[in-house]
Amino acid sequence: MQLDPQNERQPQLPRHTKILATVGPASSKPEVLEKLVELGVNGFRLNFSHGSHDVHREVVKNIRALEEKHHRPITILQDLQGPKIRLGQFADGAKHVLEVGATFTLDNDKTPGTAQRVQLPHPEILEVLNEGDPVYVNDGVVKMRVTAKKDGAVECVVEASGPVSDRKGVNLPGVDLPFSAMTDKDREDAKFGQELGVDWVALSFVQRAEDVQELRDLIGPRSRIMAKMEMPNAIKRIDSIIDLCDGMMVARGDLGVEMPLEEVPPIQKRIIRRCREEGKVVVVATQMLESMTQNNTPTRAEVSDVANAAYEGADCLMLSAETAAGDYPVEAVEVMSRVIKRVEISPAWKPLMDARHPESVQNIGDAITLGAHRMSQQLDISAIVTFTSSGSTAMRMSRQRPLHPIMVLTPEKLIARQLNLGWGLQPHVARDVRDFEDLVPLASQAMIERGLGAKGCNILITAGVPFGVSGSTNMVRVVTL
Ligand code: PEP
Repeated sequence: MQLDPQNERQPQLPRHTKILATVGPASSKPEVLEKLVELGVNGFRLNFSHGSHDVHREVVKNIRALEEKHHRPITILQDLQGPKIRLGQFADGAKHVLEVGATFTLDNDKTPGTAQRVQLPHPEILEVLNEGDPVYVNDGVVKMRVTAKKDGAVECVVEASGPVSDRKGVNLPGVDLPFSAMTDKDREDAKFGQELGVDWVALSFVQRAEDVQELRDLIGPRSRIMAKMEMPNAIKRIDSIIDLCDGMMVARGDLGVEMPLEEVPPIQKRIIRRCREEGKVVVVATQMLESMTQNNTPTRAEVSDVANAAYEGADCLMLSAETAAGDYPVEAVEVMSRVIKRVEISPAWKPLMDARHPESVQNIGDAITLGAHRMSQQLDISAIVTFTSSGSTAMRMSRQRPLHPIMVLTPEKLIARQLNLGWGLQPHVARDVRDFEDLVPLASQAMIERGLGAKGCNILITAGVPFGVSGSTNMVRVVTL
């Protein structure tokens, strides 16, 4: 069909904006996972801040079984915990409320802490902290500022009052931290993830491009890497980081502690725009439907947040505690899916996404894809079909945010699973093809199997010929099935 952005798009078309659900105690049972798959979850996030290797192994086994049963790829993203800075311990596990104006010292002395001082068991951080640097404790509830450095310790003045207690988390917004984004635990977990065959690996607390390179060197070329954007230093270095990763997560939880809260929405817009420019996957994460951890309906503001991320053209929206630990994991997915589908029949959706996307043509593949997108807007077609072995032809088309479904044929199961988080992409594992004539019956079969078209309908095909040469999108054809 010819889809006019000024009219409502047919509601039965597949959802373009993807859903990633975090697995946890509320959702790890096979019957709950299956319910979430039936409701259209496209991928699952395994949060390695929690859970043993045995638990993760079992979840992966169950997801792979569901993939077989439901005949469609399901993405598995391993999320590494990353280095979390924590206070040491207080005498008798006490909790002390620090008042505004009080002095509080962080040192490297193991003696249990008091209302005046505590150990910060990271001497390398005490070393780099300087007068004027902010020190936040307990998700930014307690705000302090360094006033003096003395003998391997820092003295701070309290600027926002609140309680401190054993092992509370510490954030140091904007301070260049002298360590990698991976601890020994993360390295072990990342190797284990490769044994499990995860499709994507998310790297927490990225500060610089070298952090991404270090993970790439550790895991090799197989999995795609998602840089979690949660530190001011990463936002500052977005251009060098984006070159080395395959996707980015707007990790609004830590970002909202590390930056003033009002900075989070513009940063979200900037990251979405940059990822789309580069044809990389962007996931918006955290507190999307937070109140649904306890209630079976969301707040109006949460619904607007989900809708706005879809209007912005994010590839994928993520549920965290809602599906991992909440009382209503199934309802949360149902609501998210309904809200996205409503956005995707709105006449405002496509113009809003296009307004944020400068058309940039850097090579032949981009030009062919841009042309193919324009053709799809003029023609009566049922779907755009791409054939890809590396995924690049499909990601190029996804970047254009076309209204038609994008059927992706690929001989690689891994590529199908990885592309599954990409906006609008409907990956389908098919045998390898020799030439264009070979591709048409395959496309036809996949279209019918997915219910996207029938004999006699038109499809627009983009691919790179000769087949099998990665990154060479150079052909567009319209064929009748
Ligand atoms: C976040 O901070 O928003 C996030 C996704 O990371 P985590 O949940 O791992 O802290």
